[in-house]
Amino acid sequence: MLGSHVGLGGKEQFLGSVQEALSYGADTFMVYTGAPQNTRRKDLSEMRIPEAKALMAESGIKEFVVHAPYIINLGNTVKPENFDFGVEFLREELRRTEAMGSTTLVLHPGAHVGEGEDTGIMQIIKGLNLVLDADTKVRIALETMAGKGSEIGTSFAQLARIYDGVTHNNKLRLCLDTCHLNDAGYNVKDDFEGVLAEMERYFPINQVACIHLNDSKNDQGAAKDRHENIGFGTIGFDRLCAITRMPEFADTPIILETPYMSAEEGGKDRTYPPYKAEIAMLRAGVFNPELRKAVVG
Ligand code: FE
Ligand code: FE
Ligand code: ZN
Repeated sequence: MLGSHVGLGGKEQFLGSVQEALSYGADTFMVYTGAPQNTRRKDLSEMRIPEAKALMAESGIKEFVVHAPYIINLGNTVKPENFDFGVEFLREELRRTEAMGSTTLVLHPGAHVGEGEDTGIMQIIKGLNLVLDADTKVRIALETMAGKGSEIGTSFAQLARIYDGVTHNNKLRLCLDTCHLNDAGYNVKDDFEGVLAEMERYFPINQVACIHLNDSKNDQGAAKDRHENIGFGTIGFDRLCAITRMPEFADTPIILETPYMSAEEGGKDRTYPPYKAEIAMLRAGVFNPELRKAVVG
């Protein structure tokens, strides 16, 4: 399954998200339940969920994933009110994810904001234990992080420590972000098999509930987190395309979070979503160095 992140807002709400995914020729997608950078959310009754579900059924989209907003930080021990807010908001996100019809909520594990890895991990575990119980239907997919700032989740060993502390860790899953793995130091470009082998020291491959397929603007290990369009970064087209063809991930939502493009090379406007052209390129298995032309038209 191949798709991209899509918007949710305006009058169309979740119905518009599905329409956007279909306009890219996608058969899956990822959505935030509102703006990714804030936590203002509409009531479920206003989100046009039944219409969105009907359109998905009609057009053969069987699975999609939801992404929690960036500003939730379960690793925060410095501002208890932020942690409490994160826990409360995450509970509501689980509720919304279930109501929208997805089983996967992608979450950035958190950042220790200067208090150190151990303290951050303990706090993330505490937070997850406050939101997950035996009846939770949605799975929280912890995303592999690039290591920008004080991010936790930059190695499989760290993610395994989180799993170890969570009581209902059968409700946890992983989201592999190829840009983040590269920036965190893993050799995605030349040894993705080795990256998966390293993962499998801690997790069976069926823990991967989502893949974020992004090229990277930075070198392996740069700890930067700057996504690049498919084939234009340091990972390159061949590896990213090969990942979309792995039988292990045939039923896994593979989601593009590559940057919008500008009409001119180096332009700042970034108004053109690249996803239709990138999906077509990946499906064809042929890199198009003229991607901008295909996107801008
Ligand atoms: Fe993410
Ligand atoms: Fe990501
Ligand atoms: Zn990123």
